[in-house]
Amino acid sequence: MAKTAEVSFLDSVSRNFDKAAPHTGLPEGLLQQIKACNSVYQMRFPVKVGKEYEVIEAYRVQHSHHRLPTKGGIRYSQKVNQEEVMALASLMTYKCALVDVPFGGAKGGVKISPRAYTPAQLQAITRRYTTELIRKNFIGPGIDVPAPDYGTGSREMAWILDTYQTFKGGEIDAAGCVTGKPVNQNGIQGRTEATGRGVYYALKEIVSYKEDMDKLGLSTGMEGKTIAIQGLGNVGYYAGIICQEEGGSKIVSVAEYEGAIYSKDGIDIKKLLKFRKKTGSIIGFPGTKDLKQRKKVLEVKCDILIPAALENQIRMDNAHKVKAKIVAEAANGPVTAGAQEVLTKKGVMVIPDMYINAGGVTVSYFEWLKNLSHMRFGRMEKRFDQDKYSNLVSLVERMTGHTIGIKERNMLTKGADEIDLVRSGLEETMITAYGQIRETWKRKKKIEDMRTAAFVCALNKISSDYLALGIFP
Ligand code: NAD
Repeated sequence: MAKTAEVSFLDSVSRNFDKAAPHTGLPEGLLQQIKACNSVYQMRFPVKVGKEYEVIEAYRVQHSHHRLPTKGGIRYSQKVNQEEVMALASLMTYKCALVDVPFGGAKGGVKISPRAYTPAQLQAITRRYTTELIRKNFIGPGIDVPAPDYGTGSREMAWILDTYQTFKGGEIDAAGCVTGKPVNQNGIQGRTEATGRGVYYALKEIVSYKEDMDKLGLSTGMEGKTIAIQGLGNVGYYAGIICQEEGGSKIVSVAEYEGAIYSKDGIDIKKLLKFRKKTGSIIGFPGTKDLKQRKKVLEVKCDILIPAALENQIRMDNAHKVKAKIVAEAANGPVTAGAQEVLTKKGVMVIPDMYINAGGVTVSYFEWLKNLSHMRFGRMEKRFDQDKYSNLVSLVERMTGHTIGIKERNMLTKGADEIDLVRSGLEETMITAYGQIRETWKRKKKIEDMRTAAFVCALNKISSDYLALGIFP
């Protein structure tokens, strides 16, 4: 049994921070400054729903201003509360530092269940929330830049931009006030899939280390790995589909709101989503067994468990039932601090949220850069590169006397499009960050788990900003 008691999400983040702090050697005052939530904006505003006015509870938390703008998604959920948003905002600070995205952490939350409102009502709520943020100077390309999170997507981001532009007419960089926008409205190719794709790139890198996989009793590579996914929303769906299609992994179990299903032969995620759209449920998908309770997905025998729904899913009371060798925290905070101890004792590798789901903020950063540069990536160099490679291939053909086929030629001479650059930048980010985490974990023998190593990397990077200012000698 773990020696500690179960605590709230915010306290879990705090406890994880405290566990890592002694390994950094940083002064106590500086650690306290990094840990504190700088600004909490709690608001209430009225929105007309049907014939009545409803008072909506909402938040925006800016955890750290050591780099600006601050950045973090907006969550729409009935479970939203101040502590949750504070926990999520602080995770954003550590996440950004870890993957070298030069932002402070922030998060927003609106306490509503999106399913209970029509699109027009959701639009009214989103626009009013944005107005409140503008009113208090809590949004702007150089101030605080929201993005999608649980319960929101590109549609909400488009409403936010439109509202911002209405109030800030003529602001040249206005498009950078929010990320995760539709591609045709100042968005970027590859943002929608980015968090799920980042999960795949991270897993691919992690399972490539033979020494680490031997310890878990697993082979290297994603091919044939069995995976269970909790939550088939933005993150879970793309993580699943990309692991399946590009990694050759087998998705053996999936859970959604209505329940969980299992198939030892694998579940086609694309077909499952179509089935759910048609029938309203994943239950009854041909070739699968109904697990009766949605939480059973967490207990399925598999190589990798991907919780991609909400926090506090794997707790001290069910952690001992987890049979996966690797738990990849695609959601924020799905494993509590107490459960982490249980899993570590069981020899399960827990890949922390602040690393494995950082793909979203990474591509959001690319989108923000695109907005500030007012130009799509690849526009300047694509043709130039294509002509250069084409000349090179022609030269080799002339020198060897061999001519290659048109398909091969196209492949060899292709210049990079925006999507190619986004994916390349994302993969590079996930590989580099894991290299740093793994190196720290291996070098500091007393570090028990990957989360603590990730925290140490993040804290060292954040502290260098403060130390450079001479604030904490
Ligand atoms: P989403 O709203 O698109 O999808 C979440 C899905 O989980 C929904 O379909 C919901 O029905 C399902 N779900 C909720 N509770 C469940 C349960 N108990 N069992 C099974 N399914 C359940 O949200 P999302 O954007 O995919 O976010 C999921 C998680 O990933 C959140 O923790 C979020 O903070 C985190 N995250 C999201 C992003 C992003 O870019 N969207 C980036 C980083 C982290």
